[in-house]
Amino acid sequence: MQKPIPYGKQSITKDDIAAVVETLQSDYLTQGPKIEEFENAFATYIGVKYAVAVANGTAALHLSAMANDVLPGQKIITTPITFSASANCIRYCGADVDFVDIDPLTYTIDLNQVEDKLKKDKKIKGIVPVDFAGQPVNLEELHSIANKYGAWILEDACHAPGGYFTDSKGEKQKCGNGVFASQAIFSFHPVKHIACGEGGMITTNEEAIYKRLLRLRTHGLTRNPEEMKENHGGWYMELIELGYNYRLPDILASLGISQLKKADAGLQRRREIAATYDKGLQDTTVVTPFYQQGHAFHLYVIQAEKRKELYDYLKTKNIFTQVHYIPVHLMPYYKQMGFKKGDFPNAEKYYEKCLSLPMYPTLTDEEQRYVIECIKKLNK
Ligand SMILES: *Cc1c(COP(=O)(O)O)cnc(C)c1O
Repeated sequence: MQKPIPYGKQSITKDDIAAVVETLQSDYLTQGPKIEEFENAFATYIGVKYAVAVANGTAALHLSAMANDVLPGQKIITTPITFSASANCIRYCGADVDFVDIDPLTYTIDLNQVEDKLKKDKKIKGIVPVDFAGQPVNLEELHSIANKYGAWILEDACHAPGGYFTDSKGEKQKCGNGVFASQAIFSFHPVKHIACGEGGMITTNEEAIYKRLLRLRTHGLTRNPEEMKENHGGWYMELIELGYNYRLPDILASLGISQLKKADAGLQRRREIAATYDKGLQDTTVVTPFYQQGHAFHLYVIQAEKRKELYDYLKTKNIFTQVHYIPVHLMPYYKQMGFKKGDFPNAEKYYEKCLSLPMYPTLTDEEQRYVIECIKKLNK
């Protein structure tokens, strides 16, 4: 019997284990030097000025929404094809969520429809584009649209560390580099490219936002004399605004530092796996994904006519595919706000047939051959 093949999985090496053990034996399990070390290494990898490590990707979204001053009465738009956290972070701040349908080719937010929406609705203050599956959104284009209407951009780059798009000058713009967005966020959940167990990162080039994020991550407290009204001595600190405890422990940061060293090799392997699927599935009825240079391949999503049948069949073969995503606007929580079936037809049509195949660097050639053979049996 084939051993189980999931759709995504972490790869932990001896180096990773040694790095964590070293931190466990050090003076700091949390609030120690590993945090800044991870932040600096990550900022360098992404090509951005500042990085702030937090407890998970959802906390990163929440704090970023706060740093953009999301308030009740405002409206923020995102894509319906994403993990619900991309929308939930707006609700945490009491503002309303609206969606813009996906482009049927790239499966990311349709930039033309973004402009229509911004034109019509003055309450929209920001946009949360998602580099879905690893397909980078063209933020240069989105920025030129958003700018006209004074809307900020928070890039959900959870699927795309190491990904990039090519801008109008022919330059590579790495996901999360903050050139066209006020912030970007990443997750270090084990199915993502870099695993911490739980973990997240916010990247930005804006110093004021960076300083505020540091505060918000630790309750809203500051010890920085420049930010304080008074100073009573070495112990003194001030609670400036209401924040959270969204810190990442040093134990997990040390795993992140070690994982980051292998990020490029992992991305290379993901691209190889994608090319093998492209070729292997050529003569079948399943539709392989469109992608551009710079795709980061968090997911490899096919469209299959008999999706449920294929999902169930693969499961009997110990291959555990997944569906990314059930459109967020059709979740009961969002439906109760008035969203309904038919609102975003491209997203709904995409959802009917989408299936994410196993995609992670340690997937072996043999395992991938087995996956392809099994798909072929049902989709000749
Ligand atoms: C994983 C993910 C998140 C949330 O990250 P967590 O670390 O699980 O909180 C948010 N958005 C997208 C697109 C994701 O894939």
